[in-house]
Amino acid sequence: MTATTPGLVCAHHHLYSALARGMPAPPSTPTDFLGILRQVWWRLDAALDLEMIRWSAMLGALEALESGTTAIVDHHESPNAIEGSLDVIAEACATVGIRSLLAYGVTDRNGPDGARRGLAENERFIRGGGLGLVGIHAAFTCSAETLHAAAGLARDLGVGVHVHVCEGTCDFDAPVRLAGLTRDDWLLAHCVHLPTAHDLRGTILHNPMSNLNNAVGYADPARFANPVALGTDGIGGNVLESFRLAYVMERSVDVTCGPLTAWHWLETGWDLVPAARDDEVTWSYDPMDPWHVAFTPGIRPLRVVVGGQTVLADGRPTRVDPDEVRAKAREQAARLHARL
Ligand SMILES: [Zn+2]
Repeated sequence: MTATTPGLVCAHHHLYSALARGMPAPPSTPTDFLGILRQVWWRLDAALDLEMIRWSAMLGALEALESGTTAIVDHHESPNAIEGSLDVIAEACATVGIRSLLAYGVTDRNGPDGARRGLAENERFIRGGGLGLVGIHAAFTCSAETLHAAAGLARDLGVGVHVHVCEGTCDFDAPVRLAGLTRDDWLLAHCVHLPTAHDLRGTILHNPMSNLNNAVGYADPARFANPVALGTDGIGGNVLESFRLAYVMERSVDVTCGPLTAWHWLETGWDLVPAARDDEVTWSYDPMDPWHVAFTPGIRPLRVVVGGQTVLADGRPTRVDPDEVRAKAREQAARLHARL
């Protein structure tokens, strides 16, 4: 028995992190979220070059497709390979056969020139016809000038902004820093420490597995009036898994809730990438009903059609050789890990 759904949308991903698995341990064990950023992610992103980014994105896009995800909303950073990085990611997703909505995360963490070049990459990519949003890393790593410049650029380009908000306590003042800048087309990732009553506009992107992994706390997104969508924050591209975890996390604080709320969050993805609604995924399980999916492990896509093209048939990608993608990604991972 099989059932079909539209293509799923991963509303918050970091394709650049696909090669991180198996990386060498940091010099000292981080004891909090800011330590994890400093010791792991900000060392990793600084070591990336365009070839690593290409195979990281190919692997991430492949894993998304193999999970029935046909659109990735990505948030990218590679401070020593900024120019052209969004083209490389867009090309990788297109090669595998899935959709992407990209952003370069602007930050002052690497000096004002880094922020300027990040803004320029967003502008270059979007003006050149790329599907994107303007990215901001997070309010706590940006000056007021950079936050205003990014918001202004997004308004000029007619697109939203993709930004991390209150993921950890280090970003507690984001609601103040971003006051008056946000609009309904902004994407606010995490919001774990965002007060329930706040003035930020936009869709909240919930990433339950990442939040658990970073020990930042539970966002409890059901408390917000904003729309909520589901992402992975770079831990693969399987948003059915995010749905299953989002449901039991909500259940852990409210035993009266059912899986329909988290399923609705999964469906919000189609408001972010409407074209994915027309994609078709044929699954190994029937029915694809929230109450069934919440309690059924191992559901996988058998066939995926994106924009009328069959990109996965009999559970195998049709556009790329998955073994070759994994082999190339392993080679680039070895180069990356050697740099760390
Ligand atoms: Zn993130």
